[in-house]
Amino acid sequence: MKIVLQHLTKRFPSRGKKSHGEVTAVSDFNFEIPDGKLVGLLGPSGCGKSTTLNLICGLLSPTEGKIFFGSDDVTKLAPENRGVGLVFQNYALYPHLTVLKNIIFPLENLKGTAKLSKEEMRERAYQVAKLVQIEELMDRKPKELSGGQQQRVAIARALVKMPRVLLLDEPLSNLDARLRLQTREEIRRIQQETQITTIFVTHDQDEAMSISDLIVVMKDGIIQQIGAPQEVYDNPANLFVAKFLGTPPINIFLGTIRNNRLYIGEDAVLVVPDVPEGEVVVGIRPEGFLLTGNASLSCALKRLEVMGRDVSVVCANAACEGGTLRAIINAEGTPLPNTETVRFSLKPQKVFLFRKETGERIECNLVPLTEVK
Ligand code: ADP
Ligand code: MG
Repeated sequence: MKIVLQHLTKRFPSRGKKSHGEVTAVSDFNFEIPDGKLVGLLGPSGCGKSTTLNLICGLLSPTEGKIFFGSDDVTKLAPENRGVGLVFQNYALYPHLTVLKNIIFPLENLKGTAKLSKEEMRERAYQVAKLVQIEELMDRKPKELSGGQQQRVAIARALVKMPRVLLLDEPLSNLDARLRLQTREEIRRIQQETQITTIFVTHDQDEAMSISDLIVVMKDGIIQQIGAPQEVYDNPANLFVAKFLGTPPINIFLGTIRNNRLYIGEDAVLVVPDVPEGEVVVGIRPEGFLLTGNASLSCALKRLEVMGRDVSVVCANAACEGGTLRAIINAEGTPLPNTETVRFSLKPQKVFLFRKETGERIECNLVPLTEVK
């Protein structure tokens, strides 16, 4: 089921006398979620992710704008008539019911032609339990399950009504690191097997990047960028997006454009034919540094961290935000630095320029120094 948001806006009235004006939790969202895809809504806490999800499922009604499922306008439809399955962070299972009864629960209130017999309900429950791999646990109570198993029950319960759309709000936040990884792979598998259009909300960029077909990056109720995870990583629209995606994070420098060169401190690092002179913010991905080539950016070596095939070269540079930069170097065949000063050349496709005032990306053509001489 394709989902379309048109000028979707949600404003909350101000709370108390001290706060000024309203909060615009969701501001003029316009996008389309293609049928059968998994979309990650990504942004820091308070950026409007849950509000967006609650608008789509109907728990909140928008201040402005419309929501379509396929060609149906569902904006005014009650939540129970939208055909959505919901999964929250805190599972919200009934503690006194068995797993089986928890999963069956949403089927018990079906009316009219949708009404199912006891046998049919059981059969459906076992089908989804099999899908999320908890058939062995059907007679247990929630407290006899691990967090990961409880979340699987919650997913089974959301799927049992065969929803048109599956909405997951930070479903992995209560799980420990290992289970989080495992369960996110599971969610991806289940989504691919069922082909249900799914929206997955998270503040964790790693999580969103690893399982989404598309990510929507949000900040303060405003969409910053929409695209395939790799596309957004390779081509961030602004400084916020560049900083939000990537582990280890992008390195940020204050740079200067002079004589068609990009300078970091006193070092000319790249040729920039088409950007006006002045100060810019420079983002360099950790994998954008090379120890070979026409090395131009000089830094003071602080330490090397060996991680299997890759080595993190941690350096000090006065122009770098926080004073320290981290370069990831493929150590095979590259002699590692053993002097106090390290010199890097840069991969132009891993370097982004942003306007100092607004953080907006400066579209430009960056060229290695060697290719110009
Ligand atoms: P997220 O899920 O991304 O953390 P939310 O969608 O929960 O963010 O909240 C977005 C903004 O809207 C926040 O500033 C939050 O304080 C505000 N907000 C959310 N729900 C309400 C509400 N019921 N009343 C007033 N403000 C709200
Ligand atoms: Mg939230």
